[in-house]
Amino acid sequence: MKKTFTTDAINLKNYPLNDNDSIVVMFSREKGLMRAVAKGSKRPKSKLGARIQMFIANKLMMFEGRNLDTISEAQSLNTFSRIRSDLDKITYSMYIAELVNTFCSKNYNNDESYQEIYDLLYKVYDKIASCNSRQEAILYSIKFLIHFLSILGWGLDFSCCSTCQKPLNAKQDESSVFSFELGGFICNDCAVNHPYNTIKIHNKIKAFLCELSISKLEEKTKYDDLVNDVVLEKCFSFMKKYTDNLTNKRTKVFEVLSRSAI
Ligand SMILES: [Zn+2]
Repeated sequence: MKKTFTTDAINLKNYPLNDNDSIVVMFSREKGLMRAVAKGSKRPKSKLGARIQMFIANKLMMFEGRNLDTISEAQSLNTFSRIRSDLDKITYSMYIAELVNTFCSKNYNNDESYQEIYDLLYKVYDKIASCNSRQEAILYSIKFLIHFLSILGWGLDFSCCSTCQKPLNAKQDESSVFSFELGGFICNDCAVNHPYNTIKIHNKIKAFLCELSISKLEEKTKYDDLVNDVVLEKCFSFMKKYTDNLTNKRTKVFEVLSRSAI
């Protein structure tokens, strides 16, 4: 008899297996990144076909397979339908799905982090679905990036030099140096020795990112209503470049749609 199990999972992408069936890539609360067969999902009247669309969260009953598991039943928990009615929301949600797929397929995460990543992914899709502007979608994407990388052990240190550990310059009207090579902020003394692939980040932006890192994704920070488009674009570009450097892979979604550069 086939072994079965249940899990909650959010769809990251799907692709055809043959004329009738699809493969779904999902992030599940219990098993992390999973691939499974959705039988018959390409038939016109298939209920499963609707459940395997990107970003939908389902409660699944699964059959364990030798190579691939099979979805036996899917009951949607949240379709995040308002993501699909807006191109910006789709773009940022796809970027997030691609990141989770990239990082988690490299086994950067461990079993204990599955639930935390699942909850963060669920929350960010819920927030992006219900937000009313492109700015809010960017803000929640930045929050997601900061928290996701922190769960994986790549949280940014906003207070100390990543090389000598000395406290960083925090004067509100000055800037700090960030090294993509070292993956952290560096003090002015160390910056002399690492002149390559560094950028200057204004301390007000650093303070904003720091505030986001210590607040929960769903919490409103004192900066949320104050930030403008330029700051949000800069923060997103910065977090994206930091992330690209970690994966050594430029994320495909934004190759086309990238509108800003640092
Ligand atoms: Zn230093």
